[in-house]
Amino acid sequence: MRRRDALALPLAAAAQSNAARNLILFTSDGLRRQDVFGGIDPELMGEKAAGMGEARHLRDRYWRESPDERRMALMPEFWGKLAPLAALSDDVAVTNAYKVSYPGYSEIMTGRTRDDVIRGNDPKQNPSETVFEFLRRKWSLSREQVAVFASWNAFQWMSEKTPGSIAINAGYTDISGTPRLDELSRVQHEAMTEDSSARHDWITFELALEYLRWRKPRVMYIAFNETDEWAHHKRYDRYLEMTAYVDRCLGRLWAALESMPEYRGTTAMAITADHGRGAKLDDWTSHGAAVAGAERIWLAALGANRPSQAGLAKRQRDIAAMMLRMAGIDPAEFTG
Ligand SMILES: [Zn+2]
Repeated sequence: MRRRDALALPLAAAAQSNAARNLILFTSDGLRRQDVFGGIDPELMGEKAAGMGEARHLRDRYWRESPDERRMALMPEFWGKLAPLAALSDDVAVTNAYKVSYPGYSEIMTGRTRDDVIRGNDPKQNPSETVFEFLRRKWSLSREQVAVFASWNAFQWMSEKTPGSIAINAGYTDISGTPRLDELSRVQHEAMTEDSSARHDWITFELALEYLRWRKPRVMYIAFNETDEWAHHKRYDRYLEMTAYVDRCLGRLWAALESMPEYRGTTAMAITADHGRGAKLDDWTSHGAAVAGAERIWLAALGANRPSQAGLAKRQRDIAAMMLRMAGIDPAEFTG
């Protein structure tokens, strides 16, 4: 027994020291696994009905013979810099019955499927504690150390069970603290989208990056919205441009994390989406229980203590547990 203990202790200590000190989650609403893993979609790229009639330049920019080359052309930061450091899946199962945003985000953030309460996007406070609230408690963090920056205002009620427990900036919400934050906070009201519930991802990202440098949060979630908006508008051209923008932001985010001693080598990141969408010309724009493909999402996990391929979450509701394991925390403490 003594010998086994002697062996077990150093192993446990090694696993501990490897654990992530910071956790970052990034999502882009309804960004399809087809485009992330295969690049520009050959079925959509020539279609007027997908908004591609006037988009020859995008076909020229992103078309390549093989899917591997196409995805590298569309998402060079992700495939060139992040993916080599990541465990990746294009086949993670959404387990909620609805395949719309709130149930999906709730699965990601709470590790649970609550079809009994969250039946769609109706505004209601999350009935379950989120992984962010749990981490604030577990790590004894201040409210400012657990931050959510989101384009869609629904994150105000989706991201926490107990209102006010974490720092949420979602939708057209003001924030102040640095000259850059003050300016972006003002600009968001002057450069609005057509949707009063969701601001531009550009604002969300610039705010998040500035907050990251200023407050150095231990836990951060950045949630983009515009990929879903353009898909619903049947505009594959704009959806492609937003996907390329998501990619540039991922590259900038990772570079920012690597540039700061508080994050370099000690940060774990997960990147995913709230739901999938269809694969064909008549349903790629949509998602929901009746749309084939809406029940499959993609996932990347990278950085400190990244999981093996086998350790990647296979269901959307296992993503929170996977992130906790990266941080050296037994997920049973969270999900019970
Ligand atoms: Zn969505």
